[in-house]
Amino acid sequence: MSRFLNRKYASLSAYTPGEQPRGTDYIKLNTNESPYAPAPEVLEVIDRRRMSDLRLYPDPECRLLRQSLARAYGTVPQRVFVCNGSDDALNFAFMAFGGAGAAFADITYGFYSVFAALHGVECTIVPLRDDFSVDPADYCGVGRTVFIANPNAPTGLCLSVGQIERIVESNPGNVVVVDEAYVDFGARSACSLTDKYDNLMVVRTFSKSRSLAGARLGFAVAQEPLIRDLELLKYSTNPYNVNRLTLDIGAAALQAQPYYDDCCRRIINSRQRAAERLRALGMSVTDSCANFLFARSPAVGGAELYAALKARGVLVRHFDSDRIRDYVRITVGTDAQMDALVSAVKEILEEKTR
Ligand SMILES: *Cc1c(COP(=O)(O)O)cnc(C)c1O
Repeated sequence: MSRFLNRKYASLSAYTPGEQPRGTDYIKLNTNESPYAPAPEVLEVIDRRRMSDLRLYPDPECRLLRQSLARAYGTVPQRVFVCNGSDDALNFAFMAFGGAGAAFADITYGFYSVFAALHGVECTIVPLRDDFSVDPADYCGVGRTVFIANPNAPTGLCLSVGQIERIVESNPGNVVVVDEAYVDFGARSACSLTDKYDNLMVVRTFSKSRSLAGARLGFAVAQEPLIRDLELLKYSTNPYNVNRLTLDIGAAALQAQPYYDDCCRRIINSRQRAAERLRALGMSVTDSCANFLFARSPAVGGAELYAALKARGVLVRHFDSDRIRDYVRITVGTDAQMDALVSAVKEILEEKTR
């Protein structure tokens, strides 16, 4: 760090994204991307696009995409905020609603604590139960802005809409932000509750179930006053945070729901199949409703398993933090990729017990 950096940022430790390797051809199961391409409708928009239009700024209000999103999610455009990946919405939410402090789980998306530190937000860290499930009672009347990933990452476990509603209802004086990055892989969305509660914000992304991690598109659904708060911060930071190409392919992706439903079904099937095989090898695997598995072997530590898999050309994610050090998080790829993973795990375990 230079001697010029504002001292308030000196102790910040940035979020560490999963590796994006260049060169070696890994089976890449480390950052929860989809193994399937974006929908044909999306690729067609890219092919047909007049790239010379990129000389023009995008619509800062993202009007067309907000209309499409409102239609797709049964709401109105004024209740939709569009942003550069859902990380953008989460950042603005910490900025906007962090005055009340924030409450989130000890094991959850790593960016929450980074955003909290960035914006000087006081944190109440709520431990998950021993089985890694969230106890909704822990958040009832907690008196802080609540951040819940549902399904949670990296555990894959989810709460029901009823449990989310209990948390929202019991915190009328605070915003509850539900991060639904993985909801399409087997959980139920709390989106429709935004009609009833003025303190609920649901954050979603096109990165995972819509195969568009590289396009950087996210959105939030909430009642208008909360959306206006996010807009205030967006227009004070970067009004053009969503580029023209991404606005267009986002709208095209919403037209391709049957394609994406099929991708999700395939991923859910591959998840169940791989989980069974890993369990048959003696691993503990959480009951994931996301596009990843969270797994531990009684024979090999998480860091060791991660390294041994990498040496065999399979990239997974390991988090060197309390309670989850023994685990690896494995993105669900195609059946062929998962078979390669399972074979590699089998080899590693056999070597270990020989
Ligand atoms: C991947 C992820 C996000 C962010 O995704 P974007 O690519 O920024 O939309 C948000 N929350 C969780 C829990 C995630 O895993």
